[in-house]
Amino acid sequence: MDCKAADVVCVPCADYEPARVRAALEELIDRAGGLAWVCPGMRIGIKANLVAAMTPDRAATTHPTLISALAAILRERGAVPVVGDSPGGLYNASFLNRVYAASGMEETGAELNRSFSTCPVDLPGGRVCKTATVTGWLLECDAIINFAKLKSHGMMGLSAAAKNLFGTVPGTMKPEYHFRFPDPADFAGMLVDLDEFWKPRLSIVDAVTAMEGNGPTAGSPKRVGCLLAGQNPHRIDLVCARLIGLDPGTVPTLREAMERNLCPRKLEELEIDGPWMDFISEGFAIITERNGLQFQNLMGGGRRGALFSKFLSRSIAARPVVDQTTCVGCRKCEQVCPARAITIRRGKPAVDRRACIRCFCCQEFCPKGAMRVRRPSLARILEH
Ligand code: SF4
Ligand code: SF4
Repeated sequence: MDCKAADVVCVPCADYEPARVRAALEELIDRAGGLAWVCPGMRIGIKANLVAAMTPDRAATTHPTLISALAAILRERGAVPVVGDSPGGLYNASFLNRVYAASGMEETGAELNRSFSTCPVDLPGGRVCKTATVTGWLLECDAIINFAKLKSHGMMGLSAAAKNLFGTVPGTMKPEYHFRFPDPADFAGMLVDLDEFWKPRLSIVDAVTAMEGNGPTAGSPKRVGCLLAGQNPHRIDLVCARLIGLDPGTVPTLREAMERNLCPRKLEELEIDGPWMDFISEGFAIITERNGLQFQNLMGGGRRGALFSKFLSRSIAARPVVDQTTCVGCRKCEQVCPARAITIRRGKPAVDRRACIRCFCCQEFCPKGAMRVRRPSLARILEH
């Protein structure tokens, strides 16, 4: 970095008009420390959020105008920007070409990753995950810029800078990770381990238009109007959580980052450069249903308390529920379910609650937004 920058930088960006985007991005990067580390010939991987073959107006993917502007800035410094991601599903050219085309990446002028190698790596500093298989293209890059999208998320509550690097796990292997880490806290630990492994030189969050509601793919666009950047993805996420009215303590990756001292517990302890408070989004629809409750203290803690908590937490846990009116019976949820907990009966999915590991992949990949995260009424009553 050129100079000591704040933990998080926030710059207004009202829309995706190209000249406005370019000016906002230049200011953001400059105030976040600059690009003096970029050398001619350097291959820089831009890890975008390309969660599905969806058009930019759906607000599920990093906007192509931003990617285009970043690629141009890097090229002007003699670097070679390469854009890529591995969403859930196949990790091959025909699958990714559809995603690139729909998300507008083909018009960005950046090289799009078409190398689909995967590679086992050790995560020496990993606390939850010591080994992983990752997409090879980023290992071949000299540096990484993590370019995320601000969204609500069924399993993690928030999809922003930290969650974005799960796209470095090949799509075909994601179900295995849900099985290895079925508990949201462990899953978050794995994500933080991945973030620490990749250590992007810069993380940027596209919060110009975010996704609220049934995210990360079936929510609605919501204008927030800014860009955020910094070196530490968790610190950016702490601001993102505040922008959308999410209690940081309910975001598993933030909790994990706080426990590892990667992120302060309070927003006031962050150094934030820019008018971020102007972009707090009133009424942003978040997914509160997924939050768990802890009951150990009801039984005086200890082993009995832990067993009781497990039993009660399981019986009142959030689960995927099908909206029968919007479901079109396409079977996508059945295909993506890593636990094979979904069967189609009379043309509609039925979820086996005992087999379900609550990864919410079905909710993420339902093309109609018909799969929703729901908590039993007993859970709501107990919480009150
Ligand atoms: S993916 Fe969605 S629309 Fe398709 S069967 Fe499942 S719930 Fe219905
Ligand atoms: S039913 Fe949905 S939430 Fe449950 S394991 Fe399958 S994909 Fe995950």
